[in-house]
Amino acid sequence: LSESLNQRLQKPALSPDGRLTKILINTGLASEQNSTPSQAADGVGLYRTELPFMMRNRFPSENEQQLIYRQLLEGFSGRPVIMRTLDIGGDKNLPYFPIVEDNPFLGWRGVRVTLDHPEIFLGQLRAMIKANQNSKNLMIMFPMITHLQELKDCLKLFEQAWSEVSAENTTSEKPELEKPKVGMMIEVPAAVYQIHQMAALVDFVSVGSNDLSQYLMAVDRNNSRVSNLCDHLTPSLLMAMKQIVDGAHAAGATASVCGEMAGDPYSALLLSGMGYDSLSMNAVQMARVKWALQTIPYQQLQSAVDPATLATDANQVRQQIRQLLIDND
Ligand code: PEP
Ligand code: MG
Repeated sequence: LSESLNQRLQKPALSPDGRLTKILINTGLASEQNSTPSQAADGVGLYRTELPFMMRNRFPSENEQQLIYRQLLEGFSGRPVIMRTLDIGGDKNLPYFPIVEDNPFLGWRGVRVTLDHPEIFLGQLRAMIKANQNSKNLMIMFPMITHLQELKDCLKLFEQAWSEVSAENTTSEKPELEKPKVGMMIEVPAAVYQIHQMAALVDFVSVGSNDLSQYLMAVDRNNSRVSNLCDHLTPSLLMAMKQIVDGAHAAGATASVCGEMAGDPYSALLLSGMGYDSLSMNAVQMARVKWALQTIPYQQLQSAVDPATLATDANQVRQQIRQLLIDND
């Protein structure tokens, strides 16, 4: 089985009836760039930029960031790399920038922090834009957007960073700059209800299903006492996921998922059936997800979506997908 899984990993996630779901990798470390799953991925769907910030004892300078980002972008040259702007707060803290709050998951995190510190935000955006000068494969995404105005404020800072870097790039021997595509994460339930208006302002959306499910079901994602209440096959979450992809596509944006839900073959099948363009996951999950998507015809996946959203609970959905796998064995 492992040999055949390995062969499946090397091939695109094309269904037997010809529907391609792009498979992206969640990665952060340069050391992972040459691994087999990295090579087999269609790009990077989530680069958590807080990682290089966490490994230091002070904020990395714009130049330091540029070097780190360039290494990743050039390592994946020819394939898109989605970089998320700094997403600290919640469960991710910087030792040199402590945030102490009673409810960190409901507090100052993601763009709530960076919009309050435009100097940090702008420095990061400028570093990203400069790092993209040769490889031209960068896409930028904003975490934890709740309100339309936050998205507009992020986009305004992005435009500012773009014009500053463009104005500096005047010498003729430097290559032309490429304006990156811009997107947002959907991980707060409020954003699901405004998906039409939000998606109209960006090139792509990517669902952070870890946070979306924790906020939808009011379950702390790191609390094992209640984590059984946060199954990502829960019909209510599936309904939200369907609403997001439909809304994004209607507004002309592409839709991806980069939370754990994308890396479980059962939910990955449903997400593909809903019409998600790409799924981004950890390296170890990629072979099984590709195997599943290469096995079941897309038409059957599409037909599986309504029964899943109408099911009574996650276990019933799991049964439905298991049956689909048995039928195609
Ligand atoms: C998510 O919330 O699903 C996500 C991908 O972001 P993170 O896990 O980094 O919060
Ligand atoms: Mg998140």
